[in-house]
Order: sequence, then C-alpha cells, then structure tokens
Amino acid sequence: MISIDGSMGEGGGQVLRTSLALSMVTGQPFTIDNIRAGRRKPGLLRQHLTAVKAAAEVSCAHVSGAALGSDSIEFTPGPVNAGSYRFSIGSAGSTTLVLQTVLPALIQANGPSELIIEGGTHNPFAPTVHFLTRCFLPVLAKMGPKVDVELVRHGFFPAGGGQIRVTVNPVDRLTPLELLVRGDIKRRLAIATVAGLPGAIADRELRTLIKKLHLADDEARHDLIGDGLGPGNVLSIELESDQLTEVITGFGEKSVSSEKVARQAAKRANDYIGSGVPVGLHLADQLLVPLALAGEGAFRTGTLTRHTKTNMQVIEAFMGCAFIVDETEPGRHVISLRS
Ligand code: ATP
Repeated sequence: MISIDGSMGEGGGQVLRTSLALSMVTGQPFTIDNIRAGRRKPGLLRQHLTAVKAAAEVSCAHVSGAALGSDSIEFTPGPVNAGSYRFSIGSAGSTTLVLQTVLPALIQANGPSELIIEGGTHNPFAPTVHFLTRCFLPVLAKMGPKVDVELVRHGFFPAGGGQIRVTVNPVDRLTPLELLVRGDIKRRLAIATVAGLPGAIADRELRTLIKKLHLADDEARHDLIGDGLGPGNVLSIELESDQLTEVITGFGEKSVSSEKVARQAAKRANDYIGSGVPVGLHLADQLLVPLALAGEGAFRTGTLTRHTKTNMQVIEAFMGCAFIVDETEPGRHVISLRS
C-alpha cells in the first residue's frame, strides 16, 4: 500500500488527482492523508470528491473516506473499464480537473470511451477547455492517444452549469515525447469571451492586448455568449509555433479593470515568447504523467513551478521512476526520463 502525504509540496488537489490517476494505471492501492492541507479550505471539495468517485467508477475501486470535507481516503483499484460515463460535480468545480484524473487510465484502456462531465469549464487555477483543446491534447496526440473535448455549454465560476463531452481513443503504449525546441511564434490569436456581461469588457481587453502584443486587427476577436449564461469573462491568447500552441489565460474579476486583466495576460504571453522554451508553466506539470506513462522522453520548459516539482514527487512514488532535471541555463530546464 502506497502512502501519500497530501500536504507535500504544493499541498493542493493535484497530489490527490495524480495519486488516483496512477493508482488506476498501475493497480496499486494507496492511502492519502492531509488532503489539500496547503489550501484555505482543506479536504475534499465537490470537484475533488467527484474526481474520487469518477476514478472509483472507472476502475471498479473500493474506496473509504470519500465524503465532502474528508482529509484522507483509502483507494483500492480494480480493472479499468473503457465505456460511457457521466460525472456531475454539482457546483462550478472544474470539469477539466475531473478529466485530468481519469484520462491517464482511459488513454491506455481496453477500448474507446465517451464522458460527459458537468460543472465549470472556465475556472481560474485550472486548465480551460480552450487550453485543453488547443494546447494539451494536441501534444498528447503526438504521443498516440486521440482525445476530443467538445464544449457543450460554458460554465463559469460561481454559477457553473457547464458541460463537456469527451471522446477518448486509447493506444496500447504511449510514444515517447521529445519537445526540446520551439522556434518562432508563427501565429497569434487573442479571444476575449464574455457571457452575461457588457461586450465593452471584451473590447477594452482586446484594445489593451493589441497595444501590448502589437497584434494586427485580425489577430484579436471577441466571443459574446448569450443564452443567459454567466456572468463570466475569459481572455485566451494562442501562441502557435511549429511544435505546439501555448494558450495563456486571463480571468476577469469584479474589482479588477479590463485593462489590468489584459496587461497581466499580455505580460505572461511576452514572458513565454521571450523564454524561447516550448513548454509553458502549466503544460509542464500536466505533461509529466504522459511522460511517465511513456517511460521515457524529454521536454524543455522555463521556471519550475511548485505544481511541477510536487507532481514529479507523486509520480515517482507510484511509478518507481526518477525524473532528471537539468538547468540548461538560468530559468530554463529540461525534464527527462530515460529507460
Ligand atoms: P486546489 O489546490 O484548491 O485543490 P485544484 O484542485 O484546482 O486546487 P491544483 O493542485 O491547484 O488543483 O492544480 C491545478 C491544475 O490546473 C494544475 O495542473 C495546473 O497546471 C492547472 N492550471 C492552473 N491554471 C492554469 C491555466 N491558466 N492554464 C492551464 N492550466 C492551468
């Protein structure tokens, strides 16, 4: 039985999600204590509880401690079954993070799967659907598995009510990834989305971005969502190079001006462009599990976040592997696994 301390490193939900994912993949049972001890409201929130239940359903697991607020669980997985699943978070909790939990098992399962997940689709501190479809999933596809995520209905924090439909076409074994060189940015696109809020918010954000990133008019567009959804405001900046498309995300907040939201997103976009590395801050922690499933491979990224460092620790505990981290120049790292 593997024992995980949920307070390690970042001490957030990812320690739990990666543990669930790799327990399902490897068939090893685990216990986790101090779940999300590093967060203001520790323990299982709805999103995390849904992730535990989803993992249990997909892998016919026996679980104890799966209740709202619980700070420890014991999880014993059975066989992973591809199939049709529906998971409802019941709040604006992130649908994409529930997906992050079950995806590693389903991309190597015994057949295709179709999932419907309901909750938030554009949450601060989680991958947006846009990030998954344009950035993460195309990189994963280079490793073999074809995963499509369709945004059926937007769901913003705090209202929720969103829905994604996911189809997963698995492979027997993932192909190792080598993502070391980025090259020039070939295409840029900024999209300002507003739902249930004045369209002027999107216009102000795009004006600021056009100035800060020197965008042409056809590199900026807005997306006004009706149907009584929202309120919500998300800014996505796509930066496409030969190898991949990075997606930088900014979220509108009540007390923050549209110009400030856009300036902060523009700074992150310029930091990524200037870094010259292919793998951005968030993609880095999310690529570690596929890298470990492939058993070897390497990617180049910038500064290592706490999420990245913590995820490496959790993965090593389940897979018995050892990531190699080389600081090739100050603030630039190659993360690799060699068989
Ligand atoms: P908590 O820590 O409150 O439990 P959580 O369950 O949302 O929160 P974290 O441990 O913080 O989980 O993990 C968040 C995940 O979301 C990480 O994989 C991180 O890379 C990803 N993420 C956060 N912000 C973005 C973003 N802007 N774009 C893409 N991915 C993001």
